[in-house]
Amino acid sequence: MSAAATARVALVTGGNRGIGRAIAERLVADGFRVAVTARNGQGPEGVLTVAADVNDGASLDAAIAEVEKELGPVTTVVANAGITKDTLLMRMSDDDFSAVVDTNLGGAFRTVKRAIKSMIKARHGRIILISSVSGLFGVAGQANYSSSKAGLVGFARAITRELGGRGITANVVAPGFIESDMTAELDDATQAAYRKQIPAGRYGTTEEVAGVVSWLAGEDAGYISGAVIPVDGGLGMGH
Ligand code: NDP
Repeated sequence: MSAAATARVALVTGGNRGIGRAIAERLVADGFRVAVTARNGQGPEGVLTVAADVNDGASLDAAIAEVEKELGPVTTVVANAGITKDTLLMRMSDDDFSAVVDTNLGGAFRTVKRAIKSMIKARHGRIILISSVSGLFGVAGQANYSSSKAGLVGFARAITRELGGRGITANVVAPGFIESDMTAELDDATQAAYRKQIPAGRYGTTEEVAGVVSWLAGEDAGYISGAVIPVDGGLGMGH
């Protein structure tokens, strides 16, 4: 077999910044050939950046074709791209709800559906979905976001039952509050209030999320599927 045929190839959505970028960097360090999708900007050094919007199936088809041509069949997919549109339920528009669910849950579906073709063929694959403590704990003002992130748990478990016999695992990583653009948007008082609730007493780093993804993508996690792994400093205990 050629090197390309035996290489571990990872695709990370939303890898131009934040958690996705840190995951891409970590998987490169682990020896993966890594591609990231980006709507704008570039992934980190050593990574193939492909243009794609997870709400646009045709752009994902083209992106995955490019990744497979340049790097080989995808063996690991990390569905990371996500958005928030927080507001209280009474004020949440139908569009605010659908946009968040369609990007966070629909986007993961559209990405994974396309990436698993090569995994089924190879009888090996790792699917890692980036959810949130919000999906299981529930957060006021995030009816759309919490619903989308809880949906990823059902998605991973359905995949596990459907494809578990083909050497494919599907797991969920549920970060708590992580230092990134998403949490920087919160005002200082809200940030301080959240910090108080976290047993670890601090926000997590993007690298701490990337480390767990790295482990799930590696050989040691081969018998773990349908699991939800919190990376939240103890915030959501009891999930
Ligand atoms: P950022 O806002 O920093 O980055 C979000 C990424 O998703 C960007 O790369 C963005 O691309 C991409 N993205 C958004 N919408 C689309 C789309 N339609 N198509 C393609 N890419 C898209 O967020 P984080 O890095 O903080 O979050 C990454 C993931 O982790 C998200 O799923 C988020 O919900 C989750 N998470 C984050 C937590 C946190 O505390 N930060 C906590 C728990 C979960 P672009 O640059 O083009 O906008």
